[in-house]
Amino acid sequence: MQKHFYDGLLNSDTVLSRPHVKGLQNDVFFIKHSYAETYDEEIESRRNGYEMRYALALAKYLLQQGYRSKQIAILVTYSEQRHSLRKNAERLFGYDHGIRIENVDNFQGEESDIIILSLVRSESENGKIGYLNTKNRLCVALSRARIGMYVIGNIQYLADRASSTLWQEIKETFGRKNYLSEHLITKCQKHGTEQIIKSFKEFNFKCPEGGCQRQCEDILECGHVCALYCHGYDMEHLEIKCEQPCQKICYHNVQCQKLCHEECEPCEFNESENGNCYYFISESSNSAENALEAETKKQVVEEYHREAEISFFLDGPKLNKK
Ligand SMILES: [Zn+2]
Ligand SMILES: [Zn+2]
Ligand SMILES: [Zn+2]
Ligand SMILES: [Zn+2]
Ligand SMILES: [Zn+2]
Repeated sequence: MQKHFYDGLLNSDTVLSRPHVKGLQNDVFFIKHSYAETYDEEIESRRNGYEMRYALALAKYLLQQGYRSKQIAILVTYSEQRHSLRKNAERLFGYDHGIRIENVDNFQGEESDIIILSLVRSESENGKIGYLNTKNRLCVALSRARIGMYVIGNIQYLADRASSTLWQEIKETFGRKNYLSEHLITKCQKHGTEQIIKSFKEFNFKCPEGGCQRQCEDILECGHVCALYCHGYDMEHLEIKCEQPCQKICYHNVQCQKLCHEECEPCEFNESENGNCYYFISESSNSAENALEAETKKQVVEEYHREAEISFFLDGPKLNKK
């Protein structure tokens, strides 16, 4: 049996000792397609728009699983593909996104938790695929994936056009293990729901937040229900900001106009320079204890308003400072 770049990840001994990739059914997968490459004669380099978009959609999905950008590397076999990926990664993730996007040749000796490889070559009349015939290039770089590896390419084209049997062997090995398909299977971390992703476009509506199409529905610390779709990131809800309207009312009996995650601001009746309205949670809470507490506070508010009303008639047309 020849040594292949994927041996490490397919080896059952290492499978037992390493974590699985979150959000995907398989840790190793070959996403096949038959979308054509583009050849730029001026710079004599090639790119593949489908693979570029797929690689970025998959990287985004992995970030939505809670992986940090430093854990992901996108490797390519042509400079023009790297250029196109870098340009679009900046558009999608921002200038300082931190995902390594590199030519396979420049990745020698490096490691990454998850590697996405774009092979570029596909359905070109110029049938020579010289670069991709060189096994060592791919072997050395791709044996550096620590927990997951996803290859995007036209496997049939490569197997047909290659001068060596490398791609035919890869096709057979991945195919035998059901690691080769046009369809990638996602599996949400929260519900375990599996979904078939038939094209990169499906990530957006099948996994809008990196999970499935159901709502998260977890109760946040503030008492609101999480409004996000099932998400693979921040499952403890430590960083997620509640976008619901703030439920608190102040002693002037005015509901806070801010969003739940924002700091409450004094209402228009607050006149004291450095004072505030002393916001508290309104009686919308349903537990008996909270209801009692709210009732007490409501009485305080009513008492306050009575006093304010009295002082209004006594002192003039302004609410009293308290
Ligand atoms: Zn889900
Ligand atoms: Zn809230
Ligand atoms: Zn949630
Ligand atoms: Zn508030
Ligand atoms: Zn107030």
